[in-house]
Amino acid sequence: MKIIDAHMHDYQNSPYFDQIARDAGHENSEEHLRQVYRQLGIVGGVVMGNGGLSLQEHCYPDFLHYCIGLDSSCFADGRLPDCADLVEAHLQRQNCVGIKLYPGYSYYYVFDKVYDPFYRLAQKYQKPVAIHTGDTSMETAILKYAHPLTLDEAAVRWPKVQFVMCHFGNPWLTDAAEVVAKNPNVAADLSGWAVGRFSLGDFADQYSGYLQQLRTWTGYVGDYSQLMFGTDWPLVNLSDYIDLIRYLIPERAQEQVFFENANRIWALGL
Ligand SMILES: [Zn+2]
Repeated sequence: MKIIDAHMHDYQNSPYFDQIARDAGHENSEEHLRQVYRQLGIVGGVVMGNGGLSLQEHCYPDFLHYCIGLDSSCFADGRLPDCADLVEAHLQRQNCVGIKLYPGYSYYYVFDKVYDPFYRLAQKYQKPVAIHTGDTSMETAILKYAHPLTLDEAAVRWPKVQFVMCHFGNPWLTDAAEVVAKNPNVAADLSGWAVGRFSLGDFADQYSGYLQQLRTWTGYVGDYSQLMFGTDWPLVNLSDYIDLIRYLIPERAQEQVFFENANRIWALGL
């Protein structure tokens, strides 16, 4: 089965993420990633962009597409128009397939008018907006801004924009399921539910209730056409994570979740 990794990161030159990759049984390098992707049948990935907005900072190998990510510095006084121009320059590139927002890390709700210039661009270029939802990795983040229910209002205000709810709002799974089920312009990726290395058997024993919740609420959405596999590389072992998502998603929906939905929603042409 062909697989697309619809949510991953590219953290070059970072001793911190080098160690996280090693803890997951990987090496934080392009060659290693290319090799593991090939071994596992992963034919492409979508980088959730971090860092600056200059075009030079976003050069990726041929097997990766990317979303241009807005960090909190864009929302500092007076910077927004410059950021919007730079984001537009990215969206004009073929390998830039969307925009990534980081509410929680940024202290704005996703329906705040501060994001309007970016939603307007997403609509103009017909490229999705991925939104961090759920748990955050920094103590300075504020969780209320990352709650999946906040996407409902953005989705209603911008019906022609395709949204991607990252991490399925974990752990607010009931709210996430309802927002995806209700809004035809909201999809979700299934990344970030586990980190490091694990064996599926032990993980399923230890976290049986959690996995049951994940299965129940992804199933609640209905037809699985809005759900996409993603890994959050380099945080988790890719092979272990594929095993986990295979375990949670019914076999009849796996082609869609592992490949077809991401290829369609991110317009990857794979
Ligand atoms: Zn991520």
